[in-house]
Amino acid sequence: MPGKCSQCGSKTYLGRTTMHKDSTEIQNIPCTICHECGYEQIGQQAQKKINKLLERAAKEKLKSRLVVM
Ligand SMILES: [Zn+2]
Repeated sequence: MPGKCSQCGSKTYLGRTTMHKDSTEIQNIPCTICHECGYEQIGQQAQKKINKLLERAAKEKLKSRLVVM
C-alpha cells in the first residue's frame, strides 16, 4: 500500500491512525502517512470496515464507543 501522497506526491509510509465520528472513536486504523505533509490516507479495505462499524454505531449496536481495529 505505501506509495505516493495524493496531496503532494511525496513518499508515504505505513502507519496507524485514529478516527472520530460522532461519539464513536476508532483506533488503530491502518493507513499510509506522508513523510512530507503528514497526510493520512486510509485504504479501501479499511475504509469499508470503518463504514460498517459506523453503520453499526449509528444503530447503537456497538457495545462500546471505542473500537480498536
Ligand atoms: Zn504529502
